[in-house]
Order: sequence, then structure tokens, then C-alpha cells
Amino acid sequence: MMKKILIANRGEIALRIIRTCKEMGIGTVAIYSSIDKESLHVQLADEAFCVGGNRSSESYLNIQNIISAAIISECDAIHPGIGFLSENAEFARKVKEAGLIFIGPDSECIENMGNKSKAREIMKNAGVPVVPGSDGVIVDIEQGMKIASEIGYPVLIKASSGGGGKGMRIANSEDEFQKCFFAAKQEAMSCFGDDSVYIEKLIMNPRHIEFQVLGDNFGNIIHLGERDCSIQRRNQKLIEEAPSSIDDDLRIKMGNAAILAARNVKYVSAGTIEFILDNKNNFYFIEMNTRLQVEHPVTEMITEIDLVKEQIRIASNLKLKFSQEDIEFRGHAIECRINAEDVSNGFRPCPGTITSLLLPGGFGVRIDTILYHGYKIPPFYDSLIAKLVVHGNTRLEAIRKMRRALEELIIDGVQNNIEFQYLIMYHPGFVRGNFNTGFIEKLMKELEK
Ligand code: ADP
Ligand code: ADP
Ligand code: MG
Repeated sequence: MMKKILIANRGEIALRIIRTCKEMGIGTVAIYSSIDKESLHVQLADEAFCVGGNRSSESYLNIQNIISAAIISECDAIHPGIGFLSENAEFARKVKEAGLIFIGPDSECIENMGNKSKAREIMKNAGVPVVPGSDGVIVDIEQGMKIASEIGYPVLIKASSGGGGKGMRIANSEDEFQKCFFAAKQEAMSCFGDDSVYIEKLIMNPRHIEFQVLGDNFGNIIHLGERDCSIQRRNQKLIEEAPSSIDDDLRIKMGNAAILAARNVKYVSAGTIEFILDNKNNFYFIEMNTRLQVEHPVTEMITEIDLVKEQIRIASNLKLKFSQEDIEFRGHAIECRINAEDVSNGFRPCPGTITSLLLPGGFGVRIDTILYHGYKIPPFYDSLIAKLVVHGNTRLEAIRKMRRALEELIIDGVQNNIEFQYLIMYHPGFVRGNFNTGFIEKLMKELEK
């Protein structure tokens, strides 16, 4: 087993990983940017290194400095967390070359799945259903228009290197395609440094259903059930729950497809196979995330399996302790992402200083956050400031618990989405489970009236 791990991340996820390391008796090394000096992840780790300036490119994406910090502090391994370098194949490769363990899959797998158009191709060839769309990336606008008209409008132009809901454009017609094509390429270039795009048919009002998978170095691959992440704004998740409302037959079918997908890339570590599900119960692979996911706690709540612990065990070359038959699901879990943002102004991030803080507690309530009284949320990073997760015996019990927890939660000093989350917890569509990825957009229109 490893003795010391460097956590190449910040925020609640760095804290989340440090906590499991402590429980496993593993030493922890935090990294931070200048502005994060007082951050909780720095305070709670055994050691901490400043790896650069405030901009991510200077610090949390600074491969050289991060690996140096791990070597100086004599770490065995690096956990990349979520976002930042977690899906960077070059980082995974360099970590390995430095004689350290990368807690995640190998760099080749990260590279293949990180290229979303290539991932589509691999999955299609493996027999996993993918959304009708282009084979590979689009070489020029003429080819793009030809493919789009074959698929039929509306289509979605997507960045091959996309992530975090960015680099996606809907084209409803040939006219729109012209405009969207170049806009999508431009956004892809500025966000991801790669302007290649591909096309998918726009599935109308789908649900986002994803499967958590775990694979070890001995070829064992299992799934830990699914999460419904349909409540999204700007193609980014806001509320996630497990299990979803799919029936057992569909769960088996989709679960098998997820296993097939993971098996095909010989997946090792924790990963997520994302599908969209249309209103006729057809499901399509959209991408694989080769890392821990923001919403992993809902799976932990219903399986009672610590996913970070499993990642560390797998990276230490241990066999999975359970087979698919051992996995049981208990009750229902919901996560609300609490963001420092202005809901009524396009969900614009709102950094600032926390002037008053009260965190909820009680049976079945978990809150993952780096907030403390007086904490200054820096403007340089993600707007996610807390994850509120609840577990109940039934979905309704979980909803009631979430309402109660949201009522208790006070975060003053910055604009946030607590009230908005509360509103959703009372929305009849949400309560009935009658929603899809268009839910928030529709709700915003209702609120404007
Ligand atoms: P998840 O996929 O785990 O549900 P998100 O899509 O919200 O969560 O992404 C997780 C985090 O990683 C967010 O902070 C998001 O901004 C960031 N992120 C995701 N993909 C990318 C990417 N390709 N480039 C930069 N940041 C990304
Ligand atoms: P990212 O890498 O940014 O997470 P995804 O490919 O996972 O991008 O898509 C993010 C979200 O965009 C999905 O959860 C879904 O809501 C929507 N989406 C993606 N592809 C399609 C599609 N072909 N049709 C309809 N909605 C889609
Ligand atoms: Mg996705």
C-alpha cells in the first residue's frame, strides 16, 4: 500500500481525497496557488507546497512544479482529483516517467477517451450504441453540412476535446450550421486549444444517465449503478441522484453496455460512462470520463463504497474486493451543487468573502465543502463551493431531507444558488420525477412570467 499521496487539486475535492487518505493511514501532500495559501485543503494536509501563481496555468496545471513537489516530499503517488490535470494524458505519462503512481487509468486510455470523437468511434466499433453522427472529426464546412443534412436537423456541433459543458452548439438548419460551425471551432480553440469538432444528432429532451464503473489491474470490471444527472444548466450538472427512474430491465441493459464500454478500453480505476436516454428508452453513449466525478457521493451513499479508497487500492495493484453480484443498492441519494453564482444573471460566477456560514447536519446528510467563516472565494477557479448530499430510504424521503438541509444551510456574503435549489426541491415536475435535460431552461422561462 502507498504511504504518501500528493493531491494535485484544490477545493472540496482535494479535501475529499485528503479525508480518505487519512482514514487509510496514508500521508497527504497538498499543492496550492498563491491565493489558496489559507485554504482548508492546505491546512488539513500533512504537508503543502505552493506550486505557482493564481492562474490555473501557473499552478494547478503546472505539471513540472507539481511533479517536483511530489518527488521532493517523497510521495508514492499523485491523485489528480477532478478537472485541472485529471484528464490530461501528458500529465499521467509524466507522473509515471517520474517513477510515481498516477491514481487513474493509463495515459493511452485518457488520451483515447479524452478525444470524444475518437471515443465515439471506439465505442461504436465495440457495439455500444452511440448517438447518430459523424464518423470522426469534421474536416471542413462542406463535409459538415453534408453530414448534418444526412443526419437531419437539429444537430449538435461538439468540440472533440470538450468538457464542462463547453464547446457545444445547436444548429437547427443549414443557415445556422454555417454560423455555429465556426463559432464552435473558435470556442473549442480558446477553451481547449484544439478546434476539432464532430457532429451528433440533437436528441430531443433526453435524460442524462451515467454509470459508475470500477476496473482493476486484473481485468475485473464492475459497475456501481447509475446516476441521473438531467438537471443541468448550460449542459453542466446542477443536481444528481441515484438511482435513476429507469426500470430493472433497462438498468441491466445499460449496465451491460457500460461494462462492455469499459472492457473495450481495458479500463482501470474509477470511471464514468455517460449516456443520454431518449423518451422511447433508446440510450446512446456520449462520452467516458476517466476520473472521479463531481457527483460520485450519490453513488457512495447508495452503495456504501468509498470510491477514492477504491481508486487508491486499485492503483496499489490490489484486486477489487467485490464482484458485480456483491453490489447492492440501498435507498436513494440526491446531490445539490451549491455554486457561488447569480442565478438570475445567466448563472454568472460571484466570488467574494463568506460573512456568515451555517452547515446542515443530521442523519443522512453529507456536506463536502471548503468553506469557513471569513473564507475568500477566489475569482480564478470553478464556482462550485459546496456539495450537499442526502440519503433517504425512498426518493421522497431524500427530497424531504434535502429541503430540510437546504433550509438550514446559510452561506452569506456571496450570491449563491441555495434558494434556487430549494425551489427545484418543491417543483412538481422534479418531485414527480418528470424531467429531462431541458428542465432548468423551462423553469427559467416559467420564472420570467
Ligand atoms: P462532472 O463531469 O464530474 O460531472 P463537470 O462536467 O462539472 O463535472 O466538470 C468537473 C470539473 O472539471 C468542473 O470544475 C469543470 O469546470 C471542470 N472541467 C471539466 N472538463 C474540463 C475540461 N475539459 N477543461 C477544463 N475544465 C474542465
Ligand atoms: P461534456 O464533456 O461537456 O460533459 P457531454 O458530451 O457529456 O459534454 O454532454 C454534456 C450534456 O450536453 C449532456 O449531459 C446532455 O445534456 C447534452 N448533450 C450532449 N450531447 C447531446 C446530444 N447529442 N443530444 C442532446 N443533448 C446532448
Ligand atoms: Mg459529460
